[in-house]
Amino acid sequence: MLTFYCPKCWQVVNEKEKTCPHCGFSLEKLSNQEYDQKLLDALHHTIPERRMIAAQILGNLEIQQAVPIFKQILASEVEDYYFLRTILISLAKIDHPERMEIIENATHHTSNLVCSFARKILKKLNENQPIETWDEFSG
Ligand SMILES: [Zn+2]
Repeated sequence: MLTFYCPKCWQVVNEKEKTCPHCGFSLEKLSNQEYDQKLLDALHHTIPERRMIAAQILGNLEIQQAVPIFKQILASEVEDYYFLRTILISLAKIDHPERMEIIENATHHTSNLVCSFARKILKKLNENQPIETWDEFSG
């Protein structure tokens, strides 16, 4: 089951809720497209936790538009390992034509941790391992 987050304050909310009980944001008028856009914008949020949540949800929802942004972030100066790791897991979940190439590029990342994690993800993908068995990575 997917967790629903308020796109304004990023607290967990019940999907049936019409307004966010935490900040009062109206969730009713929000279309799926707008929700996706909020998630994409949140990838550049100043608070690391919010970026992480956004990267995670985009992967779970398999949002294709996230892939080019993930690519940019991996190629940028961003060095937040946990964020990059979450991005790699999400990339693996999104069936996108550029996915393998992006993960492959990440095996040459300036951070050794990111390189070795990208190699692990590539191996899993090449072995066609089901996503369910990847939980060890998301903790
Ligand atoms: Zn809220």
